[in-house]
Amino acid sequence: MEVPYKCGGCDHNTGASKKLIRKSDPRGVTGVSQLKSMVGLSQEQQKHAIYETHASQSAGYKTVKVYSAYLGEVDLNVYDAGKGYVALQTLVPGLDGSPDIFVKAVDVQKHALYPDKYQYDIRYLAQVQPTFIDIQKAADNAKTIELMKAQKKVAELSGGKLNPQDQKRLHTAYIYNNAVDIHFNTCQYLHFLHKHTGKNNVTNSNILLSMHNVARLDNAFWAGNYMVYGNGNNTFYPLGTSDVGGHEAGHGLVQTVAGLKYQGHSGALNESFADVLGVCFEFFLYYKFNNNKDGNTEDDIDGKSDWLIGEDSGKRVEYLRNMKDPTNAQQPQPKIYRGPYWMDPNNKSRDFGGVHTNSGVGNYCFYLLSTNLGWEKALGLFWECLQQLGPNSSYIDFRDYLKAVAAKDPVLKDAVKLALYGSGLTDTVVTDWEA
Ligand SMILES: [Zn+2]
Repeated sequence: MEVPYKCGGCDHNTGASKKLIRKSDPRGVTGVSQLKSMVGLSQEQQKHAIYETHASQSAGYKTVKVYSAYLGEVDLNVYDAGKGYVALQTLVPGLDGSPDIFVKAVDVQKHALYPDKYQYDIRYLAQVQPTFIDIQKAADNAKTIELMKAQKKVAELSGGKLNPQDQKRLHTAYIYNNAVDIHFNTCQYLHFLHKHTGKNNVTNSNILLSMHNVARLDNAFWAGNYMVYGNGNNTFYPLGTSDVGGHEAGHGLVQTVAGLKYQGHSGALNESFADVLGVCFEFFLYYKFNNNKDGNTEDDIDGKSDWLIGEDSGKRVEYLRNMKDPTNAQQPQPKIYRGPYWMDPNNKSRDFGGVHTNSGVGNYCFYLLSTNLGWEKALGLFWECLQQLGPNSSYIDFRDYLKAVAAKDPVLKDAVKLALYGSGLTDTVVTDWEA
């Protein structure tokens, strides 16, 4: 593969600013209170509301169906969809006593922003116009995507390929609808975060922003205080899928909570925790919408959850990483600490010491733990462990803290021991990282 070490998909821009965002509302005239009073929604309505900030007098609240490229039909609670457009900015209610989180998607091409060249102040980004989605166009594009999928299948079966014109149509449709996926995922991620960590946001800010529509970028990344999503190029379709979004937002959480440096063991742990959060978010999302315990299949989303990372955006590759068996991927990863495929963590010239490779060990450990306890309990232990880790933590620290947080309960203790042993993190192994 031409593009080594891209994750689902992240090169985690290490030039990112580490400065904390001040907690007070930095949004000036479009602050939370103004937005709330402007739209006048109930608490319940606010939960998933997408706000049209240029509401007219006759505007009202209603639910519209928007077609998302990856998630299928998504219900959005929209304020003033009268003109057929919705703004992709949302207030997700905070926990008791915590601020609400302002979630927003920004189209980089519309605003001539250059995420590959510059770092933007999140306060500045919060004030630029959000992405607007034409509901009708989103629906039409969904049909194009479905049609193209069918055509592609036929073309593949007959040994041919999509013609250039169809390829262009497909790419346009994917890019357009990608914004819906990204915004939907980001809003849902905060619900996932509340439930499993008790936190209100991945950073200490009350904003969570995504920049999308980055041309020819086969990657997505956490830029220090916001997310950037590429449109894909040779290797990927647009990278707006749930596990990728969960991975990138996960980097934000890891940075805030543990500050794991992006090199050697700590970098591999950083990548692994991002993958764990990404895959768990996918599990959360599909359970939430497709469990059908309420007898409601209307709200089902397309696809299914799995242990693969990047499987829904792959063009040239089927998936990027495989947490169930890290050795079984286009770029194999170790599943055993210092076992086959393990990279020298001290060789910083190769992917910061193999951070996207050696993360396989943490990923496999999580998989093993989940098979015993279920992913929710496993995530709870990983979350407790993450809070103990620091910038220079190694896999040995990870082992010791994971054991410590499980020590209170014999069942958890045994499950952790099995998972650690299964991934080669036995009691006697020592670090090979010269941190
Ligand atoms: Zn990453």
